[in-house]
Amino acid sequence: MTNTSHFAVIRRDMPDRPTLQADVCVVGAGMSGVTCATLLGRHGRTVVLVDACPWVGGQAVGVPIGTIGGLFSCGPDSYLLTTIFATELLEELDQRDAVFYQRSRRARTVNVVYDDVELMRIFERKLRHAGVRMILGGVLAAVEREGRLIRKVRLETRFGPCDVEARAFVDTSGDAALTWLAGLSCRTAIFPIFGTQIVIVEGVNYDHVREPHEVQWEAERLLNERGRDYGLTREKGVIFPLPSRKMAVLNVTHLATPLDPVAFWEAAAPARDEGEQAFQLLAKEYPAAFGQARIRSMGHPGIRQTRSIVGRYMLTAEDVVAGTRFEDAVARVAWPIELHDTASGYRWEPFPDGHVHYVPLRSLIHNEADNLIAAGRCVDADPYALSSIRVMGPCIAMGAAAAEAVDLFLNGIPSLHEVPPTAVQERVRPNLEGQMEWPTEVATRPRASELA
Ligand SMILES: Cc1cc2nc3c(=O)[nH]c(=O)nc-3n(C[C@H](O)[C@H](O)[C@H](O)COP(=O)(O)OP(=O)(O)OC[C@H]3O[C@@H](n4cnc5c(N)ncnc54)[C@H](O)[C@@H]3O)c2cc1C
Repeated sequence: MTNTSHFAVIRRDMPDRPTLQADVCVVGAGMSGVTCATLLGRHGRTVVLVDACPWVGGQAVGVPIGTIGGLFSCGPDSYLLTTIFATELLEELDQRDAVFYQRSRRARTVNVVYDDVELMRIFERKLRHAGVRMILGGVLAAVEREGRLIRKVRLETRFGPCDVEARAFVDTSGDAALTWLAGLSCRTAIFPIFGTQIVIVEGVNYDHVREPHEVQWEAERLLNERGRDYGLTREKGVIFPLPSRKMAVLNVTHLATPLDPVAFWEAAAPARDEGEQAFQLLAKEYPAAFGQARIRSMGHPGIRQTRSIVGRYMLTAEDVVAGTRFEDAVARVAWPIELHDTASGYRWEPFPDGHVHYVPLRSLIHNEADNLIAAGRCVDADPYALSSIRVMGPCIAMGAAAAEAVDLFLNGIPSLHEVPPTAVQERVRPNLEGQMEWPTEVATRPRASELA
């Protein structure tokens, strides 16, 4: 029966190491990397987007975070702070009934709860239409640098190794992985900052309440009052409802996130157990909402803050609190300082109505390189300032600013340091000046405790 024309015997006789050539290599396909790569692709640049994970969307999809924070201003008349790329995401999520706007009384702004699978598909389509070439499951193994210029990144994938040579590099890895492997200076907090094992629950019943928020408030009350009985270490856990999908996002655990291959997963294991225990608490103590629910997913343990680049300027907590408007401001933020620096809780400092703070272009550009820029949660900021600007709204804004700076650089400017900030600002002006209203249909019903 064996027909030798149906198979071939093959053997690896020489290592293949393909090298891709691109204008730009973006390392990290999270919110900031997807934004940056898509906009550069739309500018006609050849872009290779690399991620160690086999999905597009970074933590927004793979954890999944479940809520876009920091897109809206503070106060009752919130407007969109970041519109570039963000409005198209919101529109497409809305078309798929995969979004829920939630006015957060804690954050004093509007949060955007989304379906992670829909967001991933939206990202994939946008990247493809922009002509971005993707290498997923591609772990950065080494970086070749000549003085102030990064030349090449070397990747390992399940299909073999691969290199990318480019004229400019964008570090959107969240952990400054590109910068670190290039041997350039990085910054890190000298105290632990905790991540979270998120749990996505489906089959949640929202029909027994007038407003979905009532489920959220009751669930948060139960977790805070009974959490210890169920072995939870974190207090003040938060829940985000997505009623159109009968889903809820449980953000109720804390875990250390050391950048070490063994220690990372050892720290993650107890938090994964606690995530399941938190769900069991809700199923048992709040059966009207969670009695028929199930855990839909527990993704990659969420990492809040680890390593940053050493940029031309370190954004400080003082800048954030003062709302300093830098001459080279390229992104606008109103999200609270949200530092998860203890196992049981976190610092939370919201801002008054109308407050905005800014990210300068200098915090994105590495001080020691001419063709390296960062965006997202590894830009240069002290731990307090970073805790405010690392949420996804500002990640979109920083990704857009990085794309424009790189596009200008590729027009023939010798160093990213010489890109005129005013030229970047001109291109991202809606993110700095606009006050776009956005229909959110948010409920603002006070908590039962606040009525007392
Ligand atoms: C538990 C938790 C809850 C949060 N809650 C919210 C919230 O409610 N709202 C909100 O807006 N924000 C929230 N945040 C913050 C927000 O999720 C992140 O800061 C944001 O998603 C960061 O986006 P990013 O693009 O900078 O990086 P990431 O999304 O982290 O993407 C970085 C990508 O780089 C890749 N990468 C890293 N190293 C390498 C390497 N060596 N080789 C190849 N690829 C690599 C990673 O695989 C990853 O996909 C939360 C964060 C956590 C952890």
